[in-house]
Amino acid sequence: MLSTLNAPQREAAKYLDGPCLVLAGAGSGKTRVITAKIAHLVKTCGMSAQNIAAITFTNKAAKEMQERVGHLLSGGESKGLTVCTFHALGVRIVRQEAKLAGLKPQFSILDASDTHQIVADLATNADKAMLKAIHWTISGWKNALITPQEAEKLASDEIEAAAAKLYPAYEKTLRAYQAVDFDDLIALPVRLFDEHPEARERWQNKLRYLLVDEYQDTNRAQYKLLRQIAGVRGAFTAVGDDDQAIYAWRGADVENLNQLARDYPNLRVIKLEQNYRSTNRILTAANTLIANNEKMFDKRLWSEHGIGDPIHIVATRDAENEAEVVIKRMQAHKFECRTHWRDYAILYRGNHQARLIEQTLRNFKVPYVISGGQSFFDRAEIKDITSYLRLLLNPDDDLAFIRSMTTPRRGIGPATLEALGNYAGKRHIGLFSAAFEEGAEQHVPHRQLEAVREFGNFINKIEYRAQREPAKQVLDDLIRAIGYEAWLYEHCEQREAETKWSNVSDFVGWLGRKGEEDKKNLLELTQTIALISMLDKEDEDFDGVQLATLHASKGLEWPHVFLIGVEEGLLPHQSSIDEDKVEEERRLMYVGVTRAQRSLTITYCDRRKAAGEWHTVEPSRFIEELGADSVKRPDKNAVVSKEDAKAKLANLRAMLGRT
Ligand code: ATP
Ligand code: MG
Repeated sequence: MLSTLNAPQREAAKYLDGPCLVLAGAGSGKTRVITAKIAHLVKTCGMSAQNIAAITFTNKAAKEMQERVGHLLSGGESKGLTVCTFHALGVRIVRQEAKLAGLKPQFSILDASDTHQIVADLATNADKAMLKAIHWTISGWKNALITPQEAEKLASDEIEAAAAKLYPAYEKTLRAYQAVDFDDLIALPVRLFDEHPEARERWQNKLRYLLVDEYQDTNRAQYKLLRQIAGVRGAFTAVGDDDQAIYAWRGADVENLNQLARDYPNLRVIKLEQNYRSTNRILTAANTLIANNEKMFDKRLWSEHGIGDPIHIVATRDAENEAEVVIKRMQAHKFECRTHWRDYAILYRGNHQARLIEQTLRNFKVPYVISGGQSFFDRAEIKDITSYLRLLLNPDDDLAFIRSMTTPRRGIGPATLEALGNYAGKRHIGLFSAAFEEGAEQHVPHRQLEAVREFGNFINKIEYRAQREPAKQVLDDLIRAIGYEAWLYEHCEQREAETKWSNVSDFVGWLGRKGEEDKKNLLELTQTIALISMLDKEDEDFDGVQLATLHASKGLEWPHVFLIGVEEGLLPHQSSIDEDKVEEERRLMYVGVTRAQRSLTITYCDRRKAAGEWHTVEPSRFIEELGADSVKRPDKNAVVSKEDAKAKLANLRAMLGRT
């Protein structure tokens, strides 16, 4: 198990005398250290897997790590092991300690669009941009563990003042719904552990060893949670790379790397220098690029994988041409090298770039998977269905009540809901409970109240079944009973309805499979749906080209990578140029470049359409910064130079030596 590690990796995996930080560049085997260390703890140190938790950045990474651990440990040995994101760990803590957190265990988890709705309901005068800013500000405060009282004192401009004014009402609304937002999943456990040392001890005893991947992208609240659980013993290993810190915009604080050494003077820092992922051409380019940033820690990277092919830089006319060029090159390469589709990734800065690529892939009949895109779970039809599920789980979830009650319509209009809402507000209860109170009869017209109650009874019946029958069966019956398919065809155009209905079917199938795999009923599955929507829909293993945003590509690797839209204004993004935050964009580029194992192709367009007009665009400064030695510029005659031929040969030899 440890024999497949190099010396410093092994040292990190074996070190247990105190807190440990592995600080190293991309592809140096940081994640591999975590996996090996889990196996080492269980197999050699006799620790029970139940007492170990590994924290990953995405659900997808958690799934991959779970699989890798599965190769090293038997099913019995790995039983009870926790491998999940900070947020998923938060759910577990809040669920188990719900009473202390003032929640019932069936609380709802609201996603960004739900919480945005709450902000919009509260700030009736704010325009769209203002709403977004307020929402963002409140979320930022929660991530920094700033309470409404503190926020009021801190607020220093118009937006912050407005946000501070809303913040208490926002929190109150969440609690009234028995709901939490994503930020609460970290902030609540932190507060709970601060206020209840006995709860903190319970979790310290349960999770005796913590391993944290992608540590450079933790935020203040996550770091505090880590410290609370790891306690003074500092029983943890964190791995990270400051050059890959790409979530500052979401409150992550790379300063946490320095803070760790301050908080734990006995911190053992281990550096890794051998890269096992990429060819030297790719590595040199990545190193040269990132040298343009002010450096925090000194790092070196080298690889035994030969020189490798130069990085291809390809100029294209416009985005359409770019998509076509990329896909044609990929097809040719696949044909020539007999690779699989899943050996290729197309990475981009912004989600909007995916649309054209998807369309072109479909035209060329190339299979693909997409992650980190506009979430599947954010689609209206999926939110319609999940609103029913949320209501089954938590009748206090008024947002879910309103959406499910009115989609499809049941003859209940805004007036009835408002009357019911007024009554519920007076009584300090949810809409659902209010409808069943006798007092409601004085406030809501008889016929409408009957309709609401009928709906309530229907929900109760389904809830009863949801606890006992397989998830898929109950969900199928639910969707049939509400006549959702027919409603879609009534309200949307034929093609739109077809797409939506097919999405609903996918969702039902997926949830059904998940229920069987995880042995969970519909209610148990429902609680974590919002969490999945935040990250990524799990892809089944199938042979397709991977599309991903640069942010979503972190930690992953592919033999052949295409990085598209590498232009000034896009990467670095215009807003970052304006705000003087080019360094974070450069790290994003570094992440992209270091995903590639054998080949990297970078493309840019000569012109782009914005607001209906064509603009000439410049190739990104980052292309220059890769260094002339690593790249191959557009070459119309496409003759292979002597150097290239030599490099190819050397590369081939290195690869043959490897396998
Ligand atoms: P990133 O910074 O991108 O997250 P990382 O440092 O976590 O990268 P890993 O993903 O753990 O790196 O490793 C990169 C690749 O190198 C993986 O394919 C891994 O299996 C391989 N690898 C790591 N260490 C070794 C080793 N000692 N021997 C052979 N292969 C290794
Ligand atoms: Mg990693």
